[in-house]
Amino acid sequence: MINRNVKIAVIGGGAAGLAAAVAAGKKFGKGCAVIIEKQTRTGRKLLATGNGRCNISNQAVSEIHYRGDRAIINSVISGFSFQDCKNFFEEQGIILRKEPESWRVYPYSNQASTVLDVLRSGLKRYDIEELCGFNITSITRKNNQFIICSDDCMVFADHIIFATGSKASPSLGADDSGYRLLEKSGIAHSALYAALCPIATKEKYKILKGVRAKGKVTLLGDGRFISEEYGEIQFSDSGISGICIFNLSGFVNEFFEYGTIGSKEYDELTISVDLMQEYDDHFLCQYIKKCRNIFKDEKSELILSAVLNKKLSSALMRYAKIHADLCRDISDKEIKRIAYATKHFTFTPIRSDAYGSAQVCGGGIGSKEIDPDTLMSRKIKNLYICGELLDVYGECGGYNLHFTFGSALKAINAIK
Ligand SMILES: Cc1cc2nc3c(=O)[nH]c(=O)nc-3n(C[C@H](O)[C@H](O)[C@H](O)COP(=O)(O)OP(=O)(O)OC[C@H]3O[C@@H](n4cnc5c(N)ncnc54)[C@H](O)[C@@H]3O)c2cc1C
Repeated sequence: MINRNVKIAVIGGGAAGLAAAVAAGKKFGKGCAVIIEKQTRTGRKLLATGNGRCNISNQAVSEIHYRGDRAIINSVISGFSFQDCKNFFEEQGIILRKEPESWRVYPYSNQASTVLDVLRSGLKRYDIEELCGFNITSITRKNNQFIICSDDCMVFADHIIFATGSKASPSLGADDSGYRLLEKSGIAHSALYAALCPIATKEKYKILKGVRAKGKVTLLGDGRFISEEYGEIQFSDSGISGICIFNLSGFVNEFFEYGTIGSKEYDELTISVDLMQEYDDHFLCQYIKKCRNIFKDEKSELILSAVLNKKLSSALMRYAKIHADLCRDISDKEIKRIAYATKHFTFTPIRSDAYGSAQVCGGGIGSKEIDPDTLMSRKIKNLYICGELLDVYGECGGYNLHFTFGSALKAINAIK
């Protein structure tokens, strides 16, 4: 039986746990902490971030880019600016670099492995052991110490930091065991749902598989506005994807799990894509009439192919129910329908196995259970919760890792 006696046991060796352990080492010195990790190695999800490049933060980070428990969002983000994130990583030897034409920030190496390597190097510097393959069988408390047990190991710790992440992306080893361990200690979480993932739709356009287009995407509930995004939409044979779709997917999955979004109930969601948002219907009708003359002897499905991908032009004709053979045969009435379809190409989201492709989870542990100023449990003294376990998620763009690191450092700062 292996025994360890430490000031801090960090449960979960992902982005939050690794950052917390390194910060603990800096604050409390060598050997102050251990990391307890259920998988055979730490940082698997971190390695997959940003397609292996790790979009580590965002230079325009602010509270508005997050959904979830406002008290926790405000406390973590107001206490952890982009500069704070930069400082933390510069201390680890990493230079951060902003991507041109966006506020996204990556490690200078453009490799997630660099981020994992420097965090693990920090663990070595501070003699912080990673106890991998640790299957927690119980967490108990005796004489003001936590005792965390597996079949062959016991860790005695004055403080616990829970950083077990969410169940998004199970192929990277994610599951809900962290929430379940906390439930056993009487710490409840709000309803969970997958977020930042593609949206499966009822309408299938095989022809659109692999097509990309820029546009404005509006999510409607029973015809009422919920949210909108602008960006590149990627079409597949099962639905729609792309960053703007990822940013709407949390609302959609929340609806499928609970029938509500926030506190509002809906019966049906639709997604309307405006493929030419700079132009109004009147302009588009005039433009399409012009194309009817220019391309008069071409197939009608190509009428928009001078401005949109050919396959998209063809799918829109099907959507607008245009049966004319050649462009010259398209009537004025049909032109109105084409213009409308271009600005309201509508999809109906359907339920799918969203966790499989989700980057994060909505829902989690909220401020009813933890003090947002310290991230310490209101019920169990010296038990802290950080990272994605919390009821917070951000848009695509480095906001999630930024929050994760900010919450980890907040918990360590709160420990005396
Ligand atoms: C494919 C993908 C790409 C992403 N890209 C980005 C990006 O570029 N930028 C960005 O900001 N965000 C990105 N994210 C989101 C980001 O990865 C997460 O927000 C972040 O990893 C959360 O950190 P965490 O430490 O809370 O959880 P995790 O990183 O998931 O770490 C949790 C750790 O705890 C361990 N664990 C779980 N349960 C137990 C248990 N019972 N006992 C012991 N250990 C346990 C897990 O094995 C894991 O190692 C991406 C996510 C995915 C899936």
